[in-house]
Amino acid sequence: MGVKTDLDLCQGHGMCEDTAPEVFRVVESQDGSYDHVELVIAEPDEGLREKIEEAVRFCPNRALSIEG
Ligand code: SF4
Repeated sequence: MGVKTDLDLCQGHGMCEDTAPEVFRVVESQDGSYDHVELVIAEPDEGLREKIEEAVRFCPNRALSIEG
């Protein structure tokens, strides 16, 4: 399963990290001016699908999506 993040939409709220820390991590930009999501694993296995779906649903900015 592939997971996509849209960094134009992400505002670093961190709900995704709270929901599925195995997959998402919120990091600071290099100049420290904003936070954004980063994938811990690019192709998570099916066992994590439920948690990822939840993270996609809860992201207030709709910055996450699942491919496949
Ligand atoms: S992907 Fe969504 S929930 Fe995760 S940090 Fe970005 S805006 Fe927040």
